[in-house]
Amino acid sequence: MVRILDGKRLAEKVKIELLAENSKLKEKKIFPGLAVILIGENPASKVYVGSKEKACQELGIYSEVYRLDSGIGHEDILSLIKKLNNDPKIHGILVQLPMPKHLGEDEIIAAIDPGKDVDCFCQENVGKIVTGNYGFLPCTPSGILELIKRNDIVIEGKECVVVGRSNIVGKPVALMLLNEGGTVTICHSKTRDLKTETLRADILVAAAGRAGLITADMVKPGATVIDVGINRMSSGKLVGDVDFEKVKEIAGAITPVPGGVGPMTIAMLMKNTIKAAKKLAE
Ligand code: NAP
Repeated sequence: MVRILDGKRLAEKVKIELLAENSKLKEKKIFPGLAVILIGENPASKVYVGSKEKACQELGIYSEVYRLDSGIGHEDILSLIKKLNNDPKIHGILVQLPMPKHLGEDEIIAAIDPGKDVDCFCQENVGKIVTGNYGFLPCTPSGILELIKRNDIVIEGKECVVVGRSNIVGKPVALMLLNEGGTVTICHSKTRDLKTETLRADILVAAAGRAGLITADMVKPGATVIDVGINRMSSGKLVGDVDFEKVKEIAGAITPVPGGVGPMTIAMLMKNTIKAAKKLAE
């Protein structure tokens, strides 16, 4: 019988733990704060930012949200980040991606103080993932690792196949699985025979952003299948990259979409913000 890895329930559990941790910090007069910058009108980004704001409210984390017009200039964003880098009320800074192309994403991410880079996107923090000497862990990949580990699924010695090689999901999750002792394969759009690769996976992470890419005949019986994809169908329905209904008949464990990796991503962002505040206080 397949196990459904319920990210919504686990995220609630993590948030209860964080709420307790935040209460202890408040006794020490430490008040974690998160600033989120949203540029433009991307509807999905607006929803994600709303969820992050709500999670801050639930946990008593101070939050500021900057909703900026897509016509804003590069220099204006850099000066906002500089101000937030120096603001003692703010411990975490997040720029919601994707941002409009003309703004120069790399330079904007690089301007965030690495100690406040709670999304773990800047080169210094990404480099720490490579060495296994973690500062912050990127939110979606660490949410995936929590889902695997807290469901007592062993990574060490397992064949782990990641579909997707983006800097924010595919590559960091592959490195983290490697650091946990998995034998890792990373697939992408140029992979010659995706099915041959995915069929070897004890742990399969799908992060391609292609609805229905992973079909039942691509999954090894009993495998753990983590679906990171979020794809909105023309009907408005949200689906992942995995054909959930058919794959759940084959897999040993599987995450649903929605209610799998998504809620864990937000919980991990809250965890990083609290961690940043603690670190700064030290
Ligand atoms: P991305 O930057 O577009 O990267 C997609 C990756 O998938 C690329 O490496 C691409 O290969 C690969 N790919 C695309 N089509 C493929 C195919 N047919 N076969 C094999 N590989 C293929 O996307 P991302 O930012 O990593 O996000 C991936 C998905 O996760 C999206 O649906 C996104 O919405 C979702 N997401 C969810 C969360 C969450 O919290 N649940 C967080 C972040 C992202 P190439 O490199 O060769 O082009």
